[in-house]
Amino acid sequence: MKKKLGQHFLKDEGIINKIIDSFDLSYHDTLVEIGPGNGALTDKLINLVEKFILIEYDEDLYKLLKSKYLFDSVDIHNADARIFDYSKVLDNGKPFIIVGNLPYYASNPIIRNILQSTHMPKKMIFMIQKEVAEQICAKEGNFSFLSAYINIFADAKKLFDVNPICFEPAPKVFSSVIEITPKIDEMFIDVDISNFIEFLTFGFKSPRKQIHNSLSDGLFLKLVETKKIIKSAKLDTTRRPSTLKMGEWKNLYDIWINLQSPRNAPGSIRRK
Ligand code: SAM
Repeated sequence: MKKKLGQHFLKDEGIINKIIDSFDLSYHDTLVEIGPGNGALTDKLINLVEKFILIEYDEDLYKLLKSKYLFDSVDIHNADARIFDYSKVLDNGKPFIIVGNLPYYASNPIIRNILQSTHMPKKMIFMIQKEVAEQICAKEGNFSFLSAYINIFADAKKLFDVNPICFEPAPKVFSSVIEITPKIDEMFIDVDISNFIEFLTFGFKSPRKQIHNSLSDGLFLKLVETKKIIKSAKLDTTRRPSTLKMGEWKNLYDIWINLQSPRNAPGSIRRK
């Protein structure tokens, strides 16, 4: 077992079946599994789809999987799912689903890599640390940077919790299985998403502070200028970043972007 690779293998048959039963699969869907390990989920899924792609970072486990699954329908990669390029292995336009009992240390970058990929799955079913699952699935009005980020691209909901005793070795904390369903939000159709995400990062720079302080810290902008932006968006400057709805972040962003444009920029914004 390689602790640094987050290896906690599922041993509870009931939980393995519950995960598999939590999503609909049609034979023609392509299935991708991240971190198959020694195949606890893979064994049960292998005959259910036409094409199965496995991504395993651990070279020893990769070799084991290669020797175990000798079918033409299975495509196994020894790769890091934090930076994996899905466009290289998927047929464009063909629906696919991603599943995985993810390593805790890398669950956020693995999910973010998928959400910013050119190829978007129909659905993702992941087991992750319970605390992170709750952050990811938080609803509007209770956002952290992570849930706001996810909400740009997808809807996320928690399906069920999993006790540490279901794994070998047992982790120190509970896990949860979550479902992430990508969506296209009209609000973001003409938006430079990387810019918007950067703006969100600024907004959540000091999440416990009031929004004018947090945004001012993040943008390195004078407090008085930051308050002007927030008031232009018709928001109370004393609200905390977590309470802002996505539409409110987008209004703030639009005002900020307008102030950055060449037409308005000279002299209009003074950095701290
Ligand atoms: N699916 C197996 C199970 O449920 O028993 C193993 C799950 S274990 C929590 C996480 C798996 O992800 C391990 O097999 C580990 O080697 C693999 N892994 C760790 N880091 C990875 C990464 N960056 N990319 C892909 N796989 C990774």
